Amino acid sequence: MDQQKKVRVRIAPSPTGDPHVGLAYITLFNYVFSKQNAGELVLRIEDTDRTRYRRSSEERIIRSLNWLNLKWDEGPDVGGKFGPYRQSERLDIYKKYAEDLISKGKAYRCFCTPERLSQMRQKQKDEGSRFGYDGKCRNLSSEKVNSLLAQKTPSVVRLKMPEDGVIPIRDHLRGVIEIDASQLDDQILIKSDGFPTYHLANVVDDHLMQITHVIRAEEWISSTPKHVVLYQAFSWPEPEFIHLPLLRNQDRSKISKRKNPTSLDFYRRKGVLPEAMLNFLALMGWSYGEDKEIFSLDQMLEKFSFKNVSLGGPIFDIQKLLWLNQQYIQDLSEDSFIKHIQKNLFNEGYLRNLYSLTKSRLNSFDQFVDKFSFFFSGELDYQGLSILPKNRSLTDFKKVIKNLLERLDNLDNWDEKNLKEIFQNQLQEIAWKPKEYYMPIRLMTTGTKDSPPLVETLAVLGSEIVRYRLQNSLTYLSKKA
Ligand code: GLU
Repeated sequence: MDQQKKVRVRIAPSPTGDPHVGLAYITLFNYVFSKQNAGELVLRIEDTDRTRYRRSSEERIIRSLNWLNLKWDEGPDVGGKFGPYRQSERLDIYKKYAEDLISKGKAYRCFCTPERLSQMRQKQKDEGSRFGYDGKCRNLSSEKVNSLLAQKTPSVVRLKMPEDGVIPIRDHLRGVIEIDASQLDDQILIKSDGFPTYHLANVVDDHLMQITHVIRAEEWISSTPKHVVLYQAFSWPEPEFIHLPLLRNQDRSKISKRKNPTSLDFYRRKGVLPEAMLNFLALMGWSYGEDKEIFSLDQMLEKFSFKNVSLGGPIFDIQKLLWLNQQYIQDLSEDSFIKHIQKNLFNEGYLRNLYSLTKSRLNSFDQFVDKFSFFFSGELDYQGLSILPKNRSLTDFKKVIKNLLERLDNLDNWDEKNLKEIFQNQLQEIAWKPKEYYMPIRLMTTGTKDSPPLVETLAVLGSEIVRYRLQNSLTYLSKKA
């Protein structure tokens, strides 16, 4: 590796949903590598995809990184702390660099309409030919371009990709991978909404932020040839690419929330200790050696080397995580143990949320824990509950709950008003009796018929636990059937 330059790495999450375990995994390796080399870690929020953008997501990403105590080393000042860089605040920079490429003849404006592009795709499909942009606007004359611009015709900026030859990707763990250039069409750099695509913004920022090592997940390998062509077009040196193996479900498919909870908020709520989570994630890509499975971040910092990263797809096995967590719980001091329970289970803010929901249902306080255990637990026991509404088939019911889960996944602000709206809309669409809809949801999320008002209860329980229980109870019903 280049020993001359100061090591600078970055994590570049897109704020599109739940803070993902994959982000913690990648951050850990970036963090450890930068610390080992007296380098610097940068947090950059890649928020240029406005259709998938979720406002609450950035806040939750930062909260998760704070929970794991993975600190970054620079950024705009936010109340005495480092904030993140945000790509949405750097649009002029990307525009300027896109213009540069146009003036050098390395990129061009494309005025093709969505209709034309979809016809083109259909034709390619019918003919069984290669998919991709056909280059219609590649050689427009400057008069034509100017006149279309003067008429305010919507346009995008595309990168001229090489038409033949190979594009070499140099990956630190894999060596050189050669990609056949004819597989790649002219990539969009600036979209018609004026926002850059991931490719342009990522390369421009990695260059301007002087990133020396791009440590990211394997899924981005397919984007790397596009980045390599961009580096060449700008005449910028490439950073070193290090693509870590993807986390996988038990069945070896790419980790997905349908098969494993993937939200860091979920594991925090479940009561996984951050130290255990980091230890677990370290084991996902790397082995300490000496058959040692339990080690601290400091120990990892001493021993880590990319040489011991194995490319086999690591399985994200929750049982293993919980086993590790158990070891960490056993080693907690009495004070830390009590603090954890007070902070994470019986904290004042949470109890205040429960006050109005529970007080009318108690005639003595010794009922509290038993009656409202669902406010404090993760999984529920569904045995003996008749969840499935009488006149509905399991298939229809599953469809409804899966659709509900999709709506809940996309909910940016988890509050009573939004939840109510989702339920009312779905109920109207499926035209079931309210009881057929609300009672199963109540049973699935609280495990009892006798819980406080549903929407208020779900608002307090929070997004992670509610979605997890809906998913779990669906699995339970399918297994039972
Ligand atoms: N924004 C990309 C993500 O969401 C970043 C990938 C990269 O590190 O280049 O993971």
